[in-house]
Amino acid sequence: MSRKALKDIKRVVIKVGTSTLTKSSGKLNEEKIKRIVASIASLADEGFEVALVTSGAVGAGMGELNINERPKTLNEKQALASVGQVALIHLYQILFWAHGKTIAQLLLTRGDFSDRNRYLNARNVCGTLLSKNIIPIINENDPVVSDELKVGDNDTLSALVSGLIDADLLIILSDIDGLYDKNPNVHKDAKFIKLVEDINEDIKNMAQGEGSKFGTGGMITKIIAAQMATKIGTNLIIVNGENPENIIRAVKGEEIGTLFLRQDKKISSRKYWLGYGTSKKGTIIIDEGAAKALKNGKSLLSVGIKGISGEFERGQIVEILNSKDELIAKGISNYSSSEIMLIKGRKSEEIEEILGHKYDDDVVHIDNLLLV
Ligand code: ADP
Repeated sequence: MSRKALKDIKRVVIKVGTSTLTKSSGKLNEEKIKRIVASIASLADEGFEVALVTSGAVGAGMGELNINERPKTLNEKQALASVGQVALIHLYQILFWAHGKTIAQLLLTRGDFSDRNRYLNARNVCGTLLSKNIIPIINENDPVVSDELKVGDNDTLSALVSGLIDADLLIILSDIDGLYDKNPNVHKDAKFIKLVEDINEDIKNMAQGEGSKFGTGGMITKIIAAQMATKIGTNLIIVNGENPENIIRAVKGEEIGTLFLRQDKKISSRKYWLGYGTSKKGTIIIDEGAAKALKNGKSLLSVGIKGISGEFERGQIVEILNSKDELIAKGISNYSSSEIMLIKGRKSEEIEEILGHKYDDDVVHIDNLLLV
């Protein structure tokens, strides 16, 4: 029944994780990759527009340099990833050629999402490639980014890419059939979950704990990806990548894996970028009344602000925390951190008198704010 929601699918993002792409030695599983490529090519032949988000650069590097141990230091890992990325994309190119398909490579970092111009540029490039039936193959540009400038894991990257290209469906291939109510590798009585319509705390609690040996995310990053993707109108299905033909089954609406149904009220592409693409410059802490007002679709006023941390200018991105220090929203601040220090807890009518100027009644306007 719920899979009927998939009948109008046109644009699909496929995310393949390290545990699917590599053997237990850590090196690439070429046989598996061949089947993944065959499945994607057959979707493209049927008129679907497909983008691939792929890990595996380190594994490919290990194969190239004949290394058996995954390196421990960041430098070594980044060097290996830069060798491996070439080998990985070369492998994809040869395999896709065999199906008459052209690929393109995009190596993105957090900065490509947070900078609005770069974001729009990447969006246009992907749109152009897809319209020419070229398959964009995307990975994080690991060799050049430090930890704080990273998206960090390819589950999150795939959700960002889904927003970037307005995908209808994101398929995450994992080493497991989908989401269970607890980690089945630890609890033998874990129950399988076919459909998630609301990603609440219960769902997040199910996904705690470590992932596989080489994967970076585990189930929790997939749930976060689902929370993001379903907001922008992308359905997300987690399926077992052991059998790459599951990609086709999922697209065709077979009851396979765990489906996270997209939300009816899709947020705008700009709000998605604001909420998930951008990096924060500072933090605003608000009281319970203001938290309630934001949840009811109101803008943030100075009177509800308890404090700030970090320094930011007017027009920069802030995270908004409630009094329990929980992140509830992200937005663009109309006032700088030093101005907010002076007007916090005060009424909007007092702003002009306190600062000698007033830009706006709202510190963060609802149009520039996303509840997360
Ligand atoms: P990938 O490398 O494909 O991204 P990961 O290994 O990072 O995959 O994540 C999948 C792993 O998450 C599973 O093999 C399992 O060990 C773990 N996990 C934790 N909680 C759950 C859960 N509730 N349901 C399913 N898997 C879970």
